[in-house]
Amino acid sequence: MKSAKLSKHAPSTHDGSRKTAKPAASDAALSKSLEELDWIPRPKLLALRRLGIETVEDLLTHFPRRHEDRTEFPKFPREESEVPICLCGEVVKTSVRRFGGWKKIFEATLQESDPNALSEPLVCRWFNLHYVQKMIATGHRMVVFGKPRLRGKRICMDHPEFEVIENDEEISIHFRRIAPIYPATEGLSQRVLRSMIYRLLNETPPAEIGLRTAAPSNLVRGERPDAIRAIHFPESREACNAAYEHLVLTEFFIMQMLIASRRANTAIRRGEKHCGAGALLDKFLKSLPFELTAAQSKVIREIGHDLAASHPMNRLLQGDVGSGKTVVAIAAMLLAVEGGYQAAFMAPTQILAEQHYDVLRRWLEPLGVRMALRTATRHDDNGPLPLFERKEEAAPEEPQIIVGTHALLYDKVSFSNLGLVVIDEQHKFGVAQRAQLSAREPAPDVLVMTATPIPRTLTMTIYGDLDVSTIDEMPLNRGKIVTAVRDESKLGEVLAFLRTQLEAGRQLYVIYPLIDESEKLDAKAAAAEYELWRERLHPFRCDLLHGRIPAPEKQEIMQRFRRVETNALISTTVLEVGVDVPNATVMLIENAERFGLAQLHQLRGRIGRGEHKSYCILLTSTSPKEASAKLAVLENTNDGFKVAEADWELRGPGDLLGTAQSGLPVLKIGNLKKDADLMRRARAVAVSIFGRDPRLDLPENQRFRGLIVEQHGQTFSNIS
Ligand code: ADP
Ligand code: MG
Repeated sequence: MKSAKLSKHAPSTHDGSRKTAKPAASDAALSKSLEELDWIPRPKLLALRRLGIETVEDLLTHFPRRHEDRTEFPKFPREESEVPICLCGEVVKTSVRRFGGWKKIFEATLQESDPNALSEPLVCRWFNLHYVQKMIATGHRMVVFGKPRLRGKRICMDHPEFEVIENDEEISIHFRRIAPIYPATEGLSQRVLRSMIYRLLNETPPAEIGLRTAAPSNLVRGERPDAIRAIHFPESREACNAAYEHLVLTEFFIMQMLIASRRANTAIRRGEKHCGAGALLDKFLKSLPFELTAAQSKVIREIGHDLAASHPMNRLLQGDVGSGKTVVAIAAMLLAVEGGYQAAFMAPTQILAEQHYDVLRRWLEPLGVRMALRTATRHDDNGPLPLFERKEEAAPEEPQIIVGTHALLYDKVSFSNLGLVVIDEQHKFGVAQRAQLSAREPAPDVLVMTATPIPRTLTMTIYGDLDVSTIDEMPLNRGKIVTAVRDESKLGEVLAFLRTQLEAGRQLYVIYPLIDESEKLDAKAAAAEYELWRERLHPFRCDLLHGRIPAPEKQEIMQRFRRVETNALISTTVLEVGVDVPNATVMLIENAERFGLAQLHQLRGRIGRGEHKSYCILLTSTSPKEASAKLAVLENTNDGFKVAEADWELRGPGDLLGTAQSGLPVLKIGNLKKDADLMRRARAVAVSIFGRDPRLDLPENQRFRGLIVEQHGQTFSNIS
């Protein structure tokens, strides 16, 4: 039921009038601080701020978390119900009863509005809530929401949500309609929020509600101002759903426009062809002790195609842990080297950089490729990148492949002729850094690799600006990984098993969960753990690895382990990414319940790299139900994609590795999982807009410009 006030405004303007309105004026209306509205009581401003609401726009887009159908109240129940229901009645009696000394029960008996002979009263009860008693009096009309229960002969509702109807105007806002229920906070009740939003909607001209973020009409039906009104005060369920769809599509559209603009930014840039004929690559592949998997060959072809094109490559290589991404990276670099360019191979940690360097030397020195390792520390975050300054001609003795950490980006090393950058383990490498890379002139080709698969529905969002290649197949010779969850009380048996493996010549990782590597305490705890394990595994030799050990020493420890001079490595999660020692086939993870699924999967990827059967033992101290359900996922699958889906199910997308660095706005209404279909639609439209107009030059696309510049800043040079 639409109230008189809400319907006062004519249906909002059409597209045409939108363009003629002054954007500046509308922005001013939306970004106006709520402090300027004198009808909002000052204390409420503080409460609003706690919800992150400061401007008119913030309040108008403080969307309901659900709606309550109060169009018609049902008859008072005469039985219990498991589903909460919403009832309206008049308070005919109140009483306070004491129990157990100081404790109090406040009861309000409600009578149905037009009672008949069969009507039962409803008793609402609140225990020890002093303030409720002050709010409710005989004669009040009120609405309650809760589960009716049979208590003796009476129908009762304990601690229902409730609202008192004070006057007739309020009826039109809060009742006799589908009422919005908001995320609320202390000092800001549903009623107050609802009244404020109601008033704000009435005071803000429709055109001003809609201007800033309208999506194109081939994506959404209707107008944004109507959708905003309808999401707060819908006239029907259908109107509410339609409004939800409109607003989610708009939100997703903006996100996909940002992503598409990043992509367009790369696509229109000048690059160079960085691809040799492939003779060097052939020689390399022939020298390998194994055949490539079909999936590896496929992605090498995709990359080769990009290298040969004259616009810069911006590609993501996804592949589960152990799927063989390093070989693919090397293949790409050899193509660039044969084309006469330098390639850089960046790893997130020193350990990994050194490991890559070892592998490269072993495989490429025989082919006469010149390589260098650079692990200099970072100099300056924001400084220029002298690394990409181009000299005239590469001196013949310069390295063709430079291996280093991500700090290479900031290093003073100058490349003379950089054609390709490969970034390993991309989830540690943010969008901003990537943007910095591709902003160089002339742009190098960029290949980022990740072993953190994300659910397919998320790929188009988190990696939406990249072309994606996926290695979806494991090398054949892989030994199986068996994963088992064990209670700490079974440590004795577990130890006996570990010893049989060590006696058979295999090696062991013991991982314990110290999250913050920077704390002193951790080093101490690590040392204590280490002593304990040395005793437990005697006479086998152990080494200790954690984040506070200086890099050269870390490197020695890894080398000793690789040469089987030590049998077990007691380590924190510094081991997490990329380490490759095929003879290490057993991993014990302590307090496994403290890790996320994705991280456990990463850790587990350190074993199962040779032909021997591998074992991952997840030791748990306490096992509440949800923890064991979580760990059971790992017992049941070795497929990183399945693990990622389950992880998503359990924790929600916010926690996924990679989202933090995605640099995308926080969603206010849409749900990446539930609304995946809407995301697909929004993406298609955004992609087609940039396909036709990569610089957003066309008049009809002007309205999207401001939006993108506002969100991106100057990083995205093609639009600003
Ligand atoms: P990730 O994808 O986790 O980085 P790596 O590149 O470290 O995996 O490869 C894991 C191991 O598998 C390495 O020892 C590598 O030499 C080996 N490998 C790679 N490709 C193949 C293949 N096609 N067949 C057999 N072994 C392979
Ligand atoms: Mg790797």
